Amino acid sequence: MAPFPETGSSARDVIAEVEDIASRDADWRHARLFGLVYKCDDDVDALTEAVYRRFIQHNALSVTAFPSLRRFEGDLLAWTAELLHAPAGAAGAMTTGGTESILMAVKVAREWGRARHGEHADLEIVVPATAHPAFHKAVHLLGMRAVVTPVRDDWRADVDAMRDAITERTVLLVGSAPGFPQGVVDPIEEIAALASERGILCHVDACLGGFMLPFVERLGNPVPPFDFRVEGVTSISADIHKYGYAPKGVSTVTYRDRALRRLQFFAYADWPGGLYGSPAGAGAKSGAPLAAAWAIMRYLGEEGYLERAARAMETTRRFTEAIEATPGLRLVAQPDMTVFSFTSTADGPDIFLVGDALEKRGWYLDRQQKPSALHAMISPGHAQVADTFLADFAEAVDEARAQGKPRTGVAAMYGALANLPDRGVVENFILDFLDNPPSP
Ligand SMILES: *Cc1c(COP(=O)(O)O)cnc(C)c1O
Repeated sequence: MAPFPETGSSARDVIAEVEDIASRDADWRHARLFGLVYKCDDDVDALTEAVYRRFIQHNALSVTAFPSLRRFEGDLLAWTAELLHAPAGAAGAMTTGGTESILMAVKVAREWGRARHGEHADLEIVVPATAHPAFHKAVHLLGMRAVVTPVRDDWRADVDAMRDAITERTVLLVGSAPGFPQGVVDPIEEIAALASERGILCHVDACLGGFMLPFVERLGNPVPPFDFRVEGVTSISADIHKYGYAPKGVSTVTYRDRALRRLQFFAYADWPGGLYGSPAGAGAKSGAPLAAAWAIMRYLGEEGYLERAARAMETTRRFTEAIEATPGLRLVAQPDMTVFSFTSTADGPDIFLVGDALEKRGWYLDRQQKPSALHAMISPGHAQVADTFLADFAEAVDEARAQGKPRTGVAAMYGALANLPDRGVVENFILDFLDNPPSP
């Protein structure tokens, strides 16, 4: 570790140093990533950068000092509610990301449950195995418990298993639209009907699909019902920093009614520093992602989002067809939108070696487990690089096939960890990694 700098440097030298440090980062501008960054178009990036810069020091903790931010928030929440077909009386909140949106929805369920079962009740939520780890983080932080239920062969939530998992203490059922791992939408109608029959809450995690599925549907594609048109759905999380194309730091959570949203808020009246109220998880936060998100929606409009959704869907079709046409590879599930994962068949190449071979060519796909697979989120920006990607993909598959089974390296490590039966050992490995990340 370098010591604290004793003297300053010129801005010019600092910028040169920063550029050097960043020189090996993944090339998101040219859509080399299939996760993490949702590349739209260069004109959208230029607008984002201009508006972001204008709001860099704005603090969204106080929308009183910065009425512009109140306006942006109000519009973003209203636009989100409209896209999700929220009924009159619905109310939403801005957060810094999907994890915070989910944390808030689970907190609302906890307060709701405490009002029914008492302050000290052990409250539970039922989550399909494919639901995002943010639900597990939320119960971990909130002192609740998550009961995990299996998914069906088509990777959608098994609602019978969810029914069996409900107890006296269950406050919330969760469904994803779509789930991150396979890009399939859970049977939200059945999950919400079950929640309503039991008189409990139902959260739809549309962090990924909230700004893609509405447009995919309007383009005429079959989209399973997932939004507030489904009776019994009580809250929905939707990330603007994914398929809304905003820079990281903006997400939304919308509730069917204001009374539910109120359970999300926090107030502390006894602080000498003043009366303190906080609508969500963060304290001070940048107004820049909010302002940029507003500008992007204003710039693209429904028309712009439809065009991008069509492009991303078409690119998804090209990629998934190429995978299905490759002997030894298969899609894990048929995706409902622009997110999918693929694996190898028994006589196919090692899938993690395919990942390594793609990485060598500058393409970054996430590794998945159960089964070992590679994961891709397709953004509109991938349309431009699709031909190059598909050529590299064919080469990468051949290269992996020629290598046989990995004995060392990242591919071997992923394979071994994915298959270790003791998940506690694997969790410790993850904690060690966080404690001591490999130096760059
Ligand atoms: C990304 C994602 C989340 C978590 O959101 P962050 O913005 O990473 O905190 C939750 N659920 C799903 C389905 C997601 O794709």
